[in-house]
Amino acid sequence: GYAKDYPPDVSELGRSSWTLLHSIAATYPENPSTKEQQDLKQFVKLFGNFYPCWFCRDDFVKYIDKNEPKVETQDNFGKWLCEAHNEVNVKLGKPKFNCNLWKQRWKNGWDNDDN
Ligand code: FAD
Repeated sequence: GYAKDYPPDVSELGRSSWTLLHSIAATYPENPSTKEQQDLKQFVKLFGNFYPCWFCRDDFVKYIDKNEPKVETQDNFGKWLCEAHNEVNVKLGKPKFNCNLWKQRWKNGWDNDDN
């Protein structure tokens, strides 16, 4: 549990945010329409602009500027997001996650034959 219920610290905010973002990837259409692609790209940029940790935000916004979100398919987006998350992992000295496994972690589960 958390030491206190409020306000969230950088770690708790981060865990919650990554959970939301990877879950969005997991439910994003396999073959999105042009509008869905535009909307997701816009969402990721705006999410970055309003991210409530300023030093996290500055680096994330810069990362997005250099690495446009890939939104053509669900798998493209899932892997793009995994790579963006890895960028932060490296910055924090955490191990990189194997992005070929993003779907096991965030969509299908580890024991599912669909992986
Ligand atoms: P988290 O990194 O929160 O990950 C949660 C879970 O996701 C992990 O347990 C693992 O199962 C899975 N996972 C790990 N890596 C990946 C991946 N690459 N792809 C898919 N799944 C993965 N914190 C700072 O201190 N400084 C920062 O500058 C900073 N910038 C951030 C920017 C953004 C946009 C976000 C969303 C968060 C940022 N954070 C930052 C928070 C930081 O990324 C972590 O969320 C926080 O340190 C808690 O880490 P954690 O070890 O609980 O796991």
